[in-house]
Order: sequence, then structure tokens, then C-alpha cells
Amino acid sequence: MKTAIVIGGGIIGLSSAYYLSRAGWQVTVIDKGNRRNNCSTGNAGYICPSHFVPLATPGIVSQGLKWMLNSRSPFYVQPRLSWPLIQWGIQFMRSATAQHVQASARPLRDIAMFSMACYEELKKEPGFDFFYAHDGMLEAVQTAENAHHAQETAKIARDLGLDAEWLDKDGVKAIEPDVEMNIRGATWFRCDAHCNPEQLVQNLEQYLLKNGAVLQVDTEVTGFSKQNGAITQVQTDKGTYNADLVVLATGSWSREMAAKLDLSLPLVAGRGYSFLANASDFPLRRPVILTEGRVAVSPFEEQIRFGGTMEITPINTPPRYKRVEGIVQSARDFFPQLKLDQPKAEDIWYGYRPCSADGLPYIGRLQKTPNVIVATGHSMLGLSLGAGTGKLVAELAEEEVVSVDLGVFSPERFG
Ligand SMILES: Cc1cc2nc3c(=O)[nH]c(=O)nc-3n(C[C@H](O)[C@H](O)[C@H](O)COP(=O)(O)OP(=O)(O)OC[C@H]3O[C@@H](n4cnc5c(N)ncnc54)[C@H](O)[C@@H]3O)c2cc1C
Repeated sequence: MKTAIVIGGGIIGLSSAYYLSRAGWQVTVIDKGNRRNNCSTGNAGYICPSHFVPLATPGIVSQGLKWMLNSRSPFYVQPRLSWPLIQWGIQFMRSATAQHVQASARPLRDIAMFSMACYEELKKEPGFDFFYAHDGMLEAVQTAENAHHAQETAKIARDLGLDAEWLDKDGVKAIEPDVEMNIRGATWFRCDAHCNPEQLVQNLEQYLLKNGAVLQVDTEVTGFSKQNGAITQVQTDKGTYNADLVVLATGSWSREMAAKLDLSLPLVAGRGYSFLANASDFPLRRPVILTEGRVAVSPFEEQIRFGGTMEITPINTPPRYKRVEGIVQSARDFFPQLKLDQPKAEDIWYGYRPCSADGLPYIGRLQKTPNVIVATGHSMLGLSLGAGTGKLVAELAEEEVVSVDLGVFSPERFG
């Protein structure tokens, strides 16, 4: 039996392991943590073809500089003399052009639609019973300028074949009658779905354990043995593993891991925070993005999750809970009836989004080390693109024709 070592047990690693296992590979997932310290459980759970605009956009740099002076703002870059950060920043600024946004829209739509189809299949499989709803998502705005921008974006979405419609405040009230919103209107992306990411991750882990895969936790990959241009063994702090195939799915730690394979993978960690509140007094029917606050709100049956902020900061920097005050303030401002207290520190989750230098994931087989497949750098879209990425990894492993053109996602595009 062919053996695959998947490094990283977040949504990308677990989805890759799932599809590889189904394709007949003997899979071992190695994770240096206990599978709960990654970015894949406390996120907002959006499965969102609506997000066809990459993180690197023309306005982001000037807006980011303004936000950096406010400790509650949704975006922050911790200034530091770090060559990888400077290198990433230069590449990010180079990518933040209108041409890049336009060129990325179709590839992002295609991989998101493919991934959503994978989730729709996955939820019907025996053993999978994660919460999943295809009720669309509202991108709500307060200012006239953002309303204008939202209407333009809804039009581009429709041109891309996505089901999206601008609703004024009364239109939003018609579909969310039980929740008062202090907004000008919202784009209703009917094309979007959302799920409970903890349940999804648990279901994937249970499937893998039941079907003969090994989940090796608290084990850190430290290096590789190579022979004739191929990886033969994966070295860890607990011993070595033989491998016919290696999948690199190490999220925000991928730059360092790629360097061990002589691959330059510009990537920084973008920390975000979230917390859960009781949904019984707040009967929101579908996810809402609070545009001006950059906050994502997700109803999951009895609970509702509020998440946001993008802090480009070294991993393991102590959390800055002031930023969570910004999330709470925005939520109160958008939902005047909502009774929401600042959560206690122990109830706040945070995770590190793996942010590539151009806002597009890195997915592909390495030309110089062909038995390595890279699947990382999904930034704000790792959950949305998770199942699809996993299936693409299995298609690459099986040397099949891939379901989505991976050209723009090449992991070797930065050299
Ligand atoms: C507040 C917030 C809200 C979000 N909402 C959404 C959303 O609604 N929709 C969406 O699509 N995305 C969302 N995201 C982004 C999404 O969560 C991430 O893109 C995704 O979780 C990344 O998954 P991953 O598997 O690449 O990385 P991770 O989940 O971080 O997993 C990487 C794993 O690799 C392991 N690892 C690293 N180095 C090593 C090593 N040397 N040896 C062994 N193991 C190693 C780590 O321990 C970790 O478990 C959100 C993120 C945040 C912070």
C-alpha cells in the first residue's frame, strides 16, 4: 500500500488525509499540537464563493496604515525588523493591484464552487453529521460609500455567475424579521453556505481513525531525508516515518517547513479572535459580515459566533484582547438589541490564518521534489476551500486530471 505522510492536522491536512484515504493510501497525519491549537476549529465556518476578491487589494495598504493607530481596529501589523515580514510585505504590495484582483476572481470562484460541491457530498456520507446550512450570507454595510461599493461587487458576482442580490434595509428585514439591524443594506450572497467547523473537524478525525489512518499528535516534523530528488523519510522529534508521498499542510508554520525543502513560500500569520454567545435571545437566521467592523457573525443552532481582526504578528505573541473589544463594539453597533458582554479571556479563541503574499493559496506538486504536494496559505478561506483542496491533493497524488486549474495557485510561483 502507498504511504502518505500529511504534515498538519488542520482542516487542510484532515481533508487531504480523508480524500487520500478514500483513494487507497495508508495515511499518517502528524501534528505538533493536540489538534486543538490550530486555526481550523474556532473560525466562522463560511463556505463562501462570494469571497472571490483576494486579501491583496489596491485599497488595503492605505486602509491598513490608518487602522494601525487604533488598538481596537480590525487590522494590525506588529512593526518589527524581520526579513520574512519585509519580503512578504513587498510581495503583498506588488500583488495589491486591480489586475491581480481581476485575474484572481475566476480561479477563486472555481475552487470555492468545487469545494462547496465536495462539502455537499461529504455531509451525506455515513458518519458525517456536522451542522451545514445553505442559506446564503449577508454582507451588511452602514455607510453610503460601502453601499455603493457593495452594489458594484454584487454586480461583478452576478457576472461571475454567482447568486447575489443587493437588498436595502427593508429587504434585509424581510429575510431577517427577528433581528434589528443598524444598516443601510446588505448584499445577500445566496451562493454561500456555512457549517460548524468543530463538528466538521471531529467528523473528519473520526472517519480517519475508523478507516485505518494514524493521527499522530504532539509530534513535530523537524526535517526530511532525500534520495534521488525525492523525500524518503520524514523526521520528527519522536522518530522517523517512511513516505511515498508527503503533503505539507502546516498552515501558518509553512514558510519554515517549506524552507527545509528549499522552497521559498512567502507567508505570515494573521491572528484572528472569536467567541461564542448564546443564540436564544438573538434569532439570526444566517451569517452576517459587519463590513465596517470587519466582523463575521455565524449562527450555529443554539450558539452564535462572533469573530474578526487580522493581526500580522509573530506566533505566540500574547493575545491582545483589546481587539476583541472592537468586535463586541461593532456587534452592538450593528445589532442595537443585542446584549453582548466582553467575553472572559478564557472564553476567547484565537487562531493564525496562513496568509500568502498575494492572497491566493499555495496548492500543487513541487517540480523539484515531485513526491511533495503543498496545500497551504489559504488565509481567510481555509475552511471554505478545505474539502476542495483535500480532493485536489488526492487527485494530484493519483496523477489524475485535476478538477480545478491550479496554475495561479502554484506553490513555486514566488521562486
Ligand atoms: C477569526 C477567524 C475566522 C475565520 N473564518 C473563516 C471562515 O468563515 N471561512 C474560511 O474559509 N476560513 C476562515 N478562517 C480562516 C481559516 O480558519 C484558516 O484558513 C484555516 O483554518 C487554515 O487551515 P490549515 O489547515 O491550513 O491550518 P491550521 O488549522 O493552522 O493547521 C496547521 C497545523 O499544522 C501543524 N503544524 C505546523 N507545523 C508543524 C510541524 N513542524 N510538525 C507538525 N505539525 C505542524 C499545526 O500544529 C496545526 O495544527 C478564519 C480564521 C479566523 C482566525
